[in-house]
Amino acid sequence: MADGAGFGTIHAGTDEGPEALWSRCRATLKERVGAGSFQSWISPLRLASLEDGVATLTVPTAFLGSYVARNFQDAILTVLAEAGTPASRLIFAPQGRVLSPAPAAAGASMGAPAPSAQPEPAEEAMRLDPRLTFDRFVVGKSNELAYAAARRIAEGNAVGFNPLFLHGGVGLGKTHLMQAIAHEMRARRPEARVLYLSAEQFMIRFVTALRDRKMMDFKQVFRAVDVLMVDDIQFIAGKDSTQEEFFHTFNALVDQGKQIVLTADRSPVEIAALEERVTSRLQSGLVVQVNPADYELRLGVLQSKLAAARATDPNLRIADGVLDFLAARVTSNLRVLEGALTRLCAQASLVGREVTLDLARDCLGDVLRASDRKVSIEEIQRKVAEHYHIRLADLIGPKRLRSFARPRQVAMYLSKTMTSRSLPDIGRRFGGRDHTTVMHGVRKIEELMGVDSQIADDLDLLRRALES
Ligand code: ADP
Ligand code: MG
Repeated sequence: MADGAGFGTIHAGTDEGPEALWSRCRATLKERVGAGSFQSWISPLRLASLEDGVATLTVPTAFLGSYVARNFQDAILTVLAEAGTPASRLIFAPQGRVLSPAPAAAGASMGAPAPSAQPEPAEEAMRLDPRLTFDRFVVGKSNELAYAAARRIAEGNAVGFNPLFLHGGVGLGKTHLMQAIAHEMRARRPEARVLYLSAEQFMIRFVTALRDRKMMDFKQVFRAVDVLMVDDIQFIAGKDSTQEEFFHTFNALVDQGKQIVLTADRSPVEIAALEERVTSRLQSGLVVQVNPADYELRLGVLQSKLAAARATDPNLRIADGVLDFLAARVTSNLRVLEGALTRLCAQASLVGREVTLDLARDCLGDVLRASDRKVSIEEIQRKVAEHYHIRLADLIGPKRLRSFARPRQVAMYLSKTMTSRSLPDIGRRFGGRDHTTVMHGVRKIEELMGVDSQIADDLDLLRRALES
């Protein structure tokens, strides 16, 4: 694309105006990005003009513009090209204002909360799972430090570390511990305002507040809590305005001596695309890693879950050796292990027989096969970075250079096809990207595989290296 000669110009002189063109594009975009993303991000956009290869879209907030630019630019450009009106560039302009590139952060302005705004009840955001309590948490070597720190906070004494930052792989009990703190605090100090939510919920609330011009209320709610717990914080990395707002909330609470608990799938320094000042604030408290469970802990968790299941179905019979077999074979994470046991229990009560080792083997064939092939996203990322001679940080990070983007898409493709992770899960492990970005990457590689023998060879090589 050199001089823009081939770019469509829709304005005077064509029979289709921007509205009609945009409504065609919208229909395609909805299919590509999915109904949820479409509703939140694409649907508020209007196409104002498309001239000399520049498409101008109006946006209700600058934040929305920068989010769309980061996550859906390619999709929009593709759809415009497919509609016969290619553009080389998108400009986001605030609705009803003079056209200018959208400023990045909209959440930076702060003020005193409006006196009339009532904070909503803290419970509103807490959908706590009643099973995730301390007494159902089995302690082992891999999680004892995290457990001790969580307990200290739940007991409500001044703990001397803020925030508590728990990190570790999926399914190792981070959410369990966080919710256990919330349960315990609720029981001990019902008057304390404890707010538990995922980083994703934090972002959704933030974006909604921006859209509805309710930032004062938003700030008021978050600054009025006694304990703030945000789960899976890696999600906000790369989401600049959300990160900014989170940083302000965080500082305001720490300054007031309020307790904060955070979790992430990796340590603060390993979260790419997290601003340095945020990273260093996160590290200023207590950073504790939750490690993969060893055999004893896995067995302990199974025994505890079985005891709980027996409480509802006393006839449940599981032969000796079955739990040991499971604990030995399902090593990936405790969630998978728990799922396996749940399935066995369901089977047992269905057929009304004892679960024997043979029955367990039959019933759990797929789980066992999946844990035989234990390729993790981290391994894939490492191997791919090595193969293309780029740094791991660049593979995961925000840079869009082709020399990083293509290996990144290869790694996403392998993560999707070689692990059982979901698209959002994969997105999170690639610097907190959206699942639509992952989907786009996977499709791109599928497309290239057929036409680009180099890519096909690379994939072959990588797959074999990972499987060995
Ligand atoms: P994470 O948030 O680290 O991905 P979760 O807290 O969701 O993991 O844990 C996954 C599942 O494993 C949950 O059902 C949880 O109750 C269970 N689990 C994890 N750790 C323990 C433990 N130490 N004792 C009992 N159950 C556990
Ligand atoms: Mg979790």
